[in-house]
Amino acid sequence: MSRVLAITNQKGGVGKTTTAVNLSAFLAKKGKKVLLLDIDPQGNSTSGLGVNKHRIKKCIYNVLVDEFPIEAIIVPTTIDNLDVAPATIQLAGAEIELVPTVSREVRLRSQVETIRSLYDFIIIDCPPSLGLLTINALTAADAVVVPIQCEYYALEGLSQLVNTVNLVQKHLNPGLIFEGALLTMYDSRTNLSNQVVDEVKNFFGAKVYKTIIPRNVRLSEAPSHGQSILEYDPKSKGAEVYESLAQEVLEGV
Ligand code: ADP
Ligand code: MG
Repeated sequence: MSRVLAITNQKGGVGKTTTAVNLSAFLAKKGKKVLLLDIDPQGNSTSGLGVNKHRIKKCIYNVLVDEFPIEAIIVPTTIDNLDVAPATIQLAGAEIELVPTVSREVRLRSQVETIRSLYDFIIIDCPPSLGLLTINALTAADAVVVPIQCEYYALEGLSQLVNTVNLVQKHLNPGLIFEGALLTMYDSRTNLSNQVVDEVKNFFGAKVYKTIIPRNVRLSEAPSHGQSILEYDPKSKGAEVYESLAQEVLEGV
């Protein structure tokens, strides 16, 4: 049975894309068939997996706005078992263009339904907002994964995010579950990081992944080479922790 996970946090720079790319890569390495669905107009997951955005003719924009079949935009990556449904900057227009359309919140879900049987995991990389694109992702998903950066104001906005998830559950997607909070960019040398870990555990209780993602330079270098950490530096700490996250996701929180 396939699982659709939305990687969401309306804050930018918290590790959504890094998590989407590297979690997808390690799930694929473990033999799962994986689709990374990029719905951030910045298209960082798309380019982070080495897909050249300039060569893309149709992207998730056409899927959402023109109801172009999602299967037709999917491209393979250099990693076995891992495909991408790409996003380009064109998607920036969708947030506004979708507003007057029929069934604007469920467009992604109906498209995802058509390809579910092809994949074990569909990982959705969300934009840094709680707008229509994110609502589409939450409506299409089975579960939400929230990366939280171990920094000042880490918890800011989380109530709003939880509210949005609850609203989507109530009105659009009753089956949606909160899968887990993922602590990212942890720095063991700072008290602050440890404080954030405690605060997040207080806020989310048991729903925090045991795997904590530390700051790792190799993780931040990999995207400029169009590679996941699995290809860029499989022996790095970054690779080790994302492999362990993939294992945790497979075992269920
Ligand atoms: P988001 O998708 O939430 O905006 P990104 O995954 O793009 O966040 O991460 C923001 C920046 O931080 C990027 O430059 C990324 O390479 C870097 N980064 C993410 N996770 C780590 C990490 N664990 N260690 C070091 N740098 C990281
Ligand atoms: Mg991102």
